[in-house]
Amino acid sequence: MDGKRQLNSFQQLEKLGEGTYATVFKGRNRHTGEFVALKEIHLDSEEGTPSTAIREISLMKELKHENIVALHDVIHTESKLMLVFEYMDGDLKKYMDTNGDRGALKPLLIKSFMYQLLKGIDFCHQNRVLHRDLKPQNLLINSKGQLKLGDFGLARAFGIPVNTFSNEVVTLWYRAPDVLLGSRTYNTSIDIWSVGCIMAEMYTGRPLFPGTANEDQMLRIFRIMGTPTEHNWPGVSHFPEYKTTISRYPPQDLRQLLPQIDPTGIDLLQRLLQLRPELRISAHDALQHPWFHEILQHQHNQQQIIANAQHVAALHQQSQSRSGFQQQATGVPQSSYESY
Ligand code: AMP
Repeated sequence: MDGKRQLNSFQQLEKLGEGTYATVFKGRNRHTGEFVALKEIHLDSEEGTPSTAIREISLMKELKHENIVALHDVIHTESKLMLVFEYMDGDLKKYMDTNGDRGALKPLLIKSFMYQLLKGIDFCHQNRVLHRDLKPQNLLINSKGQLKLGDFGLARAFGIPVNTFSNEVVTLWYRAPDVLLGSRTYNTSIDIWSVGCIMAEMYTGRPLFPGTANEDQMLRIFRIMGTPTEHNWPGVSHFPEYKTTISRYPPQDLRQLLPQIDPTGIDLLQRLLQLRPELRISAHDALQHPWFHEILQHQHNQQQIIANAQHVAALHQQSQSRSGFQQQATGVPQSSYESY
């Protein structure tokens, strides 16, 4: 089907928001009635869509996981590129603003969101896909309490964003210190730093490091996590953005800074927010952290309840079919038995 016809199969509804690369609309599939999110990518009018971007995005269609927003379709016409995503009810930022206590969420919900976030990230990392721009605005939430990652892979297709298409500066708040220092050897640890920032923000309702520019962002991080030195981070002084004049701060105690977080949670946070990328915990290991035992226990109990319910239902069915058999044999309808 050509792009125009494909586009026509969606009715465009209200605007949902504007992201880094795109304007997002709610849409409805005219054939199935299903709601979708239509992401209209802003293309450079002269260059059009780079074929590499289309290739990258098409690969995203294969990235299927319950904690990743499904990309149903990629529609490419002469003038635009439209990505058709599964529809979600909102993003984490809006969720915290409307449901949080001054933005702060309840500990068990934070744990559930963190678990889902790390599961989605782990899946992407296992498939060698990085996000590179994780923030509460691109974590999408639905009414079932599910959290799914949006925009995975787009940074690879279009490059790490500096400005949004409407020329707003892209937020640096979730950006890893090695990236701020000018490292170009990104790996999966870049996303893990963002997860740490998001975890702290869910507890306090406020961004942990709300910097205004590259240097200010670094200073805010170093004021809390300590300024790295050649001693604790060999090679740090060779990064392009490293300044010898940078203020030296000792690391602060996160337990005092974030008293809302329990000690096990602080331990995980500390492992997520390691300045040196090679020391940061992986998504896979983070999921095994004792802080999540409660969730696993809860899941185990739920599975047990479901298994028990299924067992009871099976027994019920067995006894029903046995009595149905009797019914046939005796010719007496079951209701007659019941009336005695
Ligand atoms: P983004 O480009 O992903 O940052 O999208 C901008 C805004 O559009 C987000 O903050 C969401 O509020 C909204 N949005 C993005 N994707 C979806 C989706 N799949 N379902 C519902 N809303 C979305």
